Amino acid sequence: MTTTDPAGAAPESADNEYHEGGCVCGAVRYRTTGQPVNVIVCHCTWCQRRTGSGFAVIPKFTRAQFELLSGDLKRYRSISDGSGRWLDLEFCPNCGTNIGFLQELRPDAHAIDAGTFDDPSWLAPDRQWFRYIFVRSSQAWSALPEGVEHHHGHFLEKEGPGEP
Ligand SMILES: [Zn+2]
Ligand SMILES: [Zn+2]
Repeated sequence: MTTTDPAGAAPESADNEYHEGGCVCGAVRYRTTGQPVNVIVCHCTWCQRRTGSGFAVIPKFTRAQFELLSGDLKRYRSISDGSGRWLDLEFCPNCGTNIGFLQELRPDAHAIDAGTFDDPSWLAPDRQWFRYIFVRSSQAWSALPEGVEHHHGHFLEKEGPGEP
């Protein structure tokens, strides 16, 4: 469900807009407030494995923008092969749906897997800052759209591979 400020005065893209999402079984429900800092479309092999898909679409919020409404998020600590830093995967302990992750590299960030929003279509390249990264490991069956901002590896390559 997507709602805007109850006062009704907020334009569609206002910082006080809310978006809800959750897992497949319905136990985990969450809400985000406002706009993500950016939206990372990550083709790294770690994201391919953890999502079981060709790439991850991860709007990056601050921790304060994320609120868990119901259920529990189980965490699994994964260590980046490239940097040695941890990333805590968050998922529903009942159905296993990926919800997002926290990362040592960005202590205030909360990455959400875009497909878990009830209506993920509020995220769009003309509304948020989309950045396609690790395109060097993209698969032939998940081609990039033309003309998008894309990076061979990370846009902060010095931070090491494997961290969106
Ligand atoms: Zn679940
Ligand atoms: Zn990645």
